[in-house]
Amino acid sequence: MRTGKAYIHDMQKMKMNVYMDGQKVPRDHDSFVPALEKMALTFDFVSDSEWEPLLTAVSHLNGRKINRFCHIHQSLDDLVRRRELTRKFQLYCGSCILRCGGADTINALSIVSYEIDQKYGTEYNKRFLKYLEDFQDNDWVAPIAMTDVKGDRSQRPRDQANPDSYLRIVEKASDGIVVRGAKSCISLAGYADELIVSPSRALSKDESQWAVAFAVPADCEGVKLITTPKPEGRKRKYMPAIYAQYGGSDSFVIFDSVFVPWERVFMCGEVDFAPRYGQLAALYHRFNYTACKPAMAEIFIGAAALMAEYNGVERSGHIRDKLGYLAAVAVLIDAAGIAASCQAKKTDSGTWIPGGLPTQAGRWLACTNGYKEFEILTDIAGGLASLLPFEGDFFEPEVGPLLHEFIQRRADVPAENVHKLLRFIHDTIAGPASGIHLAGTLQGGGTPIMQLIGVLREYDVEEKKNVVKRLCGISGSGLEDHKPEKKTM
Ligand SMILES: Cc1cc2nc3c(=O)[nH]c(=O)nc-3n(C[C@H](O)[C@H](O)[C@H](O)COP(=O)(O)OP(=O)(O)OC[C@H]3O[C@@H](n4cnc5c(N)ncnc54)[C@H](O)[C@@H]3O)c2cc1C
Repeated sequence: MRTGKAYIHDMQKMKMNVYMDGQKVPRDHDSFVPALEKMALTFDFVSDSEWEPLLTAVSHLNGRKINRFCHIHQSLDDLVRRRELTRKFQLYCGSCILRCGGADTINALSIVSYEIDQKYGTEYNKRFLKYLEDFQDNDWVAPIAMTDVKGDRSQRPRDQANPDSYLRIVEKASDGIVVRGAKSCISLAGYADELIVSPSRALSKDESQWAVAFAVPADCEGVKLITTPKPEGRKRKYMPAIYAQYGGSDSFVIFDSVFVPWERVFMCGEVDFAPRYGQLAALYHRFNYTACKPAMAEIFIGAAALMAEYNGVERSGHIRDKLGYLAAVAVLIDAAGIAASCQAKKTDSGTWIPGGLPTQAGRWLACTNGYKEFEILTDIAGGLASLLPFEGDFFEPEVGPLLHEFIQRRADVPAENVHKLLRFIHDTIAGPASGIHLAGTLQGGGTPIMQLIGVLREYDVEEKKNVVKRLCGISGSGLEDHKPEKKTM
């Protein structure tokens, strides 16, 4: 397994294909350091006895000890530990650890490559397992690169004015394929070793050029990563805080005629498996959300409760109602994740998947409550949390002491603590990454309607109709039983 230092060194060695604000920049550019340092935790903590049982696993390929983010779920226990790991990282950093995407997509690939082979006699699973061994041995980081740029949303891939609006195969050769297209909103691509690419939608029979899944090094020829850094807080000079030293980044990833050797191609034209891949990758990703989102809600509850206490209003009825609301939602999302773990199943490929219904419903609940959580924290924190003067002003000799005097609330709470909490809430609701977190809560892993489609795909509505028919005394199997007799003139 790599250390954090070795990971950062590997990032420094990669070819320059990251673009930021009009410049080509190295992966260790100052703006990306908070992201690199957060990712480094996922390597360094493997030797910490408190983290080791969650952060490591045993490879089913060769029995070697590996990082859990490179692991294929072999049991219900693996799924449980994975949720616990996600939750623990969220609470430790105060933000998303971001290494989940690659782990989710390799799990999806382990199933889909197997199922395609079963149906078509292909060799994708053999290729994938070989790739997986490299992935595990090198302790690679990869994003889930799925969201196509999509062009006109009312048109299918084959009907788009630009056929590359959905990434596709533009050439097939004896040694591999050439692909062209772009994937948008790809978290962590700017500091990943590999990109694992998959189709983003269902395809029809004549859309085989868009049914493609593969992996390439993130700095390979033709790949361009237009990357936006996402610091969790404004830079601190006087009051260091754990959460404020970390960050992330997201990329618009362009594949400008990229060659992929056959050994890295895991789907090539099998249109019937495109939705299966998308559904599985989304399922694993949403399962993770049932752990990180309640953890984030708990941070919101803690911040709101502490602010109310410092303000002297913690016993007020409306504050208790609002905290109760946040707590109930957090508990229900977490409960959905626990239920999904309990309903986990082993697929024919040997990989375990979480229960679909609770995963989709839990993620939907998180999606639709993200803005509510922000609303409650913003409400309880008051206006100054949004409009807080810069940190430096609090340490300026003339106005600093005055600011500290006038931000004091309850007499027994030191002004410095009020300042620290206000700065945390400021970064959370009005900081450089606040809007991105909100958008991620709503759209990461698919918009709310996608979760509901996921629910209805598995939920047996017919059975519920039958329950009501029995309760009402409606007999018969269908409507034709009760067709009115035709009247004859
Ligand atoms: C913070 C963040 C992180 C992300 N990380 C990743 C990542 O790591 N990897 C990745 O692959 N993706 C990632 N995403 C992308 C995310 O999965 C997508 O944003 C999401 O699936 C929505 O797709 P879209 O952005 O193309 O929006 P659109 O598909 O354009 O949707 C916009 C609206 O139009 C509606 N709509 C779209 N098409 C239709 C239609 N045909 N009929 C009716 N209504 C329609 C949608 O329901 C929605 O309301 C991330 C997004 C965010 C915000």
